[in-house]
Amino acid sequence: MGPPDAILGVTEAFKRDTDPRKMNLGVGAYRTDEGKPYVLNAVRKAEQSLLAQNLDKEYLPITGLAKFTSAASELAYGAESPALSRLAITQSISGTGALRIGGAFLEKFYKTQPTIYLPTPSWGNHAAIFRDCGMKVGKYTYFDPSTNGLNLSGMLEDLKALPKGSAVLLHACAHNPTGQWAQIQQVVEEREHLAFFDMAYQGFASGDADRDAAALRTFVSSGKVPVVLSQSFAKNMGLYGERVGTFSVVGADAAEKDRVLSQIKILVRPMYSNPPINGARIAAEVLTNQELRQEWLGEVKYMADRIIGMRKQLRGRLEELGSKKPWNHITDQIGMFCYTGLKPEQVDRLAQEFHVYLTRDGRVSMAGISSGNVNYLAESIHAVTKD
Ligand code: PMP
Repeated sequence: MGPPDAILGVTEAFKRDTDPRKMNLGVGAYRTDEGKPYVLNAVRKAEQSLLAQNLDKEYLPITGLAKFTSAASELAYGAESPALSRLAITQSISGTGALRIGGAFLEKFYKTQPTIYLPTPSWGNHAAIFRDCGMKVGKYTYFDPSTNGLNLSGMLEDLKALPKGSAVLLHACAHNPTGQWAQIQQVVEEREHLAFFDMAYQGFASGDADRDAAALRTFVSSGKVPVVLSQSFAKNMGLYGERVGTFSVVGADAAEKDRVLSQIKILVRPMYSNPPINGARIAAEVLTNQELRQEWLGEVKYMADRIIGMRKQLRGRLEELGSKKPWNHITDQIGMFCYTGLKPEQVDRLAQEFHVYLTRDGRVSMAGISSGNVNYLAESIHAVTKD
């Protein structure tokens, strides 16, 4: 018997709790202010339009639905990016599947450095994904527990100290705070590292999809180091269970793109043969129908803004309650999650005494907070942190 998954284990404990005040802040899925899952209007409309077309269910090519991958690449890299003509891109089984293809590709072809370096901490599944691809997994400094913020000097030092040409995983947005990218890029380029961007939250950090892709685009236009990308539509289009994503490699030229793509096909064919069709059709429809696209971008901004509002309320309420602890990191951090700095014992007390569930590293999914429960959460956090 293997151990349960850390994040999904939180949901299990939450489900067993019968108290009406219970809160699940473990899983990273958006909830409305009523605490309900949210299917975007643009997605519902795209589904209706697809249904009306009475489409068949034939297999997709190995690399997926071309209309989807081409629209997805424009969203990530920018419609005007010259890199699009040399981009090897494949549809993937959401972000996780994209990371898995990327890991398999690097393990096979990035022979200079068979290690991928992850920020500490990173998404809990990253290390397992790359390990299962046969890669070694290393770390670089990221989070500073004393400020609950970024340890930039530690991060830059670590990136400098890595062997030249290392593969480095960077969260494209909603993890690496904006503003420090120039220095990070400079070190990555000096050391000729490969930049592996994981973009699971495009649009979710700032409410603006172009702004959230800025770091990726600057690396690509600089063109000094190899860039690969995993892209997920789980969060920003609310397509979680549809499993929609892409993996791409920016080739040096069109010929390299063709060679890379041929190797990606060879990797994917025995893995899952070809990707699922439904979610890719939905995403393609949303991205390419101008009306739906505008509606979708508005909905992404709405989701991002609701989360930003919850950050402000949670911090404000903790301060009103007279908490002596600094809570600026709640509003300083961006994206769907907040690293609260709560200790494992405090997290345990939150679950046992207050029916509030989160992972023991103190990570809170901000999307699970609503105007109806933010006060209760602030009071609970205050109660376990005040002595
Ligand atoms: N990367 C990061 C940083 C994530 O947080 C997630 C989702 N939690 C993913 C990738 C992949 O998610 P999915 O496979 O659902 O697209």
